[in-house]
Amino acid sequence: MATYTPMIQQYLSVKAQAQDAFLFFRLGDFYEMFFDDAILAAKELEITLTARGGGPEEKIPMCGVPYHSAENYIHRLIEKGYKVAICEQTEDPAQAKGVVRREIVRVVTPGTVMEGKTIGDKANNYILCVTERQGMMAIASCDLSTGELYVSSSPSSKEWLRDEVGLYDPSEMIGDNGLLEWMRESSSPVGKPIVYTPWDKAKDELGRKQFGEAVWARLEPERRDCVALLVGYLSETQKRSLGQLTKISAYEPEHYMILDPFTRRNLELVETVRERSKRGSLLWLLDRTETSMGARMLRRWIDKPLLHRSQVEERLEAVSHLHSDFILREDLKEALKQIYDLERLVGRIAFGNANGRDLIALKLSLRQVPAIKRLCESSASLTLARIAGDMDECVDLADQIEAAIADEPPVSVRDGGIIKSGYHERLDELREAGTNGKRWIAELEAAERQATGIKSLKIGYNKVFGYYIEVTKANLSLLPEGRYERKQTLANAERFVTPELKEKETLILEAEEKMVDLEYALFTELREQISGEITRLQQLAEHIAEIDVYRSLAAVAADSGFVKPTLIDGYDMVIEQGRHPVVESVMSDSAFIANGTTLKQKEASILLITGPNMAGKSTYMRQVALISIMAQIGSFVPASAAEIPMIDRIFTRIGAADDLIGGQSTFMVEMADIQVMTEKATSRSLIIIDELGRGTSTSEGMAIAQAVIEYVHDHIGCKALVSTHFHELAHLESSLSGLRNYSMAVQESGDKVHFLRKLIPGAADTSYGIYCARLAGLPGGIIERAYGLLQGFEQAAAEVASGGTEARTGHDKAEALDKTGDVALAGAKIEGSSNAVDHVSGMASNGVPN
Ligand code: ADP
Repeated sequence: MATYTPMIQQYLSVKAQAQDAFLFFRLGDFYEMFFDDAILAAKELEITLTARGGGPEEKIPMCGVPYHSAENYIHRLIEKGYKVAICEQTEDPAQAKGVVRREIVRVVTPGTVMEGKTIGDKANNYILCVTERQGMMAIASCDLSTGELYVSSSPSSKEWLRDEVGLYDPSEMIGDNGLLEWMRESSSPVGKPIVYTPWDKAKDELGRKQFGEAVWARLEPERRDCVALLVGYLSETQKRSLGQLTKISAYEPEHYMILDPFTRRNLELVETVRERSKRGSLLWLLDRTETSMGARMLRRWIDKPLLHRSQVEERLEAVSHLHSDFILREDLKEALKQIYDLERLVGRIAFGNANGRDLIALKLSLRQVPAIKRLCESSASLTLARIAGDMDECVDLADQIEAAIADEPPVSVRDGGIIKSGYHERLDELREAGTNGKRWIAELEAAERQATGIKSLKIGYNKVFGYYIEVTKANLSLLPEGRYERKQTLANAERFVTPELKEKETLILEAEEKMVDLEYALFTELREQISGEITRLQQLAEHIAEIDVYRSLAAVAADSGFVKPTLIDGYDMVIEQGRHPVVESVMSDSAFIANGTTLKQKEASILLITGPNMAGKSTYMRQVALISIMAQIGSFVPASAAEIPMIDRIFTRIGAADDLIGGQSTFMVEMADIQVMTEKATSRSLIIIDELGRGTSTSEGMAIAQAVIEYVHDHIGCKALVSTHFHELAHLESSLSGLRNYSMAVQESGDKVHFLRKLIPGAADTSYGIYCARLAGLPGGIIERAYGLLQGFEQAAAEVASGGTEARTGHDKAEALDKTGDVALAGAKIEGSSNAVDHVSGMASNGVPN
């Protein structure tokens, strides 16, 4: 080390404090990186790698980015899952003896980004801290940009941890190394990258100070420890006060419906499985919010459906009033549209990086609040009236900003032009002096022109030479000797100064400097003052977000023909004419076929659904789960009527999307999920399993499927929708009193099968697998051979299984259909399906369409 230059020595000692981050080392107008940082950054940022002397042997690798465009580069690194430590000069180079002092002023990490495009407006950006102490696990999660901080805990359980982490979709996790290791190993390879940092430096004192003695003392010890660790990390990386963290929202996990990460993905609640895009998700459908904080709140609601009926009803009450009042909805929309992202504005104000434009955005937003409040007061909704009652309009703050900040301030806070005239006497005086000075210059220009007779003479200004008198070469001879001192020679002009110009220049520049400094001081003073009112602003932001979400849910409900669900504390679920909200909304050519659902304790708690591929089974099962979730977040539901019990947990085992996880086989994943389900499900849960028992041999698959269904029926007693291609399982209806067979109706005309998408009582006779193979275009020879083989297998099976279930005849099925009276309606929508009912589902037992 001794042989490095002092500057490189300084670099190395600063770098030692930020081993896991890129060190952006400020040198003049650049941030430079050295050694391995430089090599990696050059690659990741596609910038040129150079080298410089400074050490004993070879040159030191180096690359740099300009100071003014650094933000962009920092965010590119953050997006790739890196951290960036920013090292600034912390003393005036003019005063420095030797190398200028430099210190890390902030470490930007994926979970602590405050600005820029890295953090989308519509989603929170969370950093999570996970800990385990004496059999209790705790999770604290924080969005530094909005100031939200949540904490919860539970007796140690990895499923709990996984489910809870899944909710937040964090970009960074810190805490106990063991838990982080486990999360790293078990997290889905297709999710967004998470940066893991083991962390054990708790700041109990800081937490106590930040949130107040009373709040701190009330927290359970394991939660307090967890928050203290998180606060320790935040203060270590951000190196400044965290004024935006004003409250801790502690919650009990059992107050919300539990949705594990796979279920959330399978049901495409906030993003689709394939593209991981919001488009096509439930959130996409329901999100008509006008503000970013509304959009984020809606997302949080979808993440955590409620379990207490009264809480949901309070939400539904507001949605319902807005649903029936188009004018109110529109008026609110107009006002909300003009509200900026209050939470993030307030976050930046507290963090000390808000500029003049942020304050103006805050003012414009606050000016909308009185109108919103009045609209809510005028509605008959008790929920909206309550919010209006709690709403502090913060008019004083808007007035303060109005008085101080120019209507269109510049981006920079250091160059003046932010503060309005009339706000501060001294500033006005300095401005006056500046204006006078400029007037004096203009007068001097006129006087010089007159004295010399040079019409083209002009007075200009540049940063290097200050004010100067410019005379073209052609006119130089007209200039009298003596008074004019030559400063600069251009191609066809000369620039001069005079003693009086120099003298005035000093005065003008001094006034300008003072003015800029004073403006900056006044600006930061106001910013700090507003920062002191942060709790009021955060509460207001929350109220506005809530109103926005109600309005959004009401608008979607009105446009999509949803109805208000009736919530019950009992068991039974009855949905009439239910629809899948998202599939319905993207269907352009044909209408979605509605299907009812009745799940009753002991009588019909399990629906065993058979039917060919593509018949609509999984759409139907998802629709039931989505309707439950929608109801429990306080939304109307896609049905003609719905009685919805409060569901405590939804398990799904659907589709192939999550089979990638950890490289395990489909079957192993399915079995592991089912294990969790058998352990965690209660009678208030809803289980959805698509294609139970696939992935192993037919007989084993069928055996496991039957055993699982019996277990759910006899030991859990919860509501379950199970689809299977083992139509042989239909016999369970006779042994399990709570199980009902259903199938998705199909209709044949000629040798074609039409999917009616209609759920009908009774099992399907066949899975039509070979039929599908033919649709897919397999050669005729293969198809014929397959039908022949199938016939053989089925005969053999019939001989072995003496006393199995009687296959229902086509006639039985037609009768069942007649009773529901539904198919004629469904069939009528399908082209060429005039010969409806008695052909429905009639297939010969060998599977060949008759
Ligand atoms: P399965 O699970 O039986 O293989 P899916 O549920 O995947 O079938 O449905 C196949 C396709 O049928 C879906 O992509 C959807 O477009 C359409 N579909 C499903 N249910 C309905 C319905 N009730 N009304 C109209 N179209 C539907």
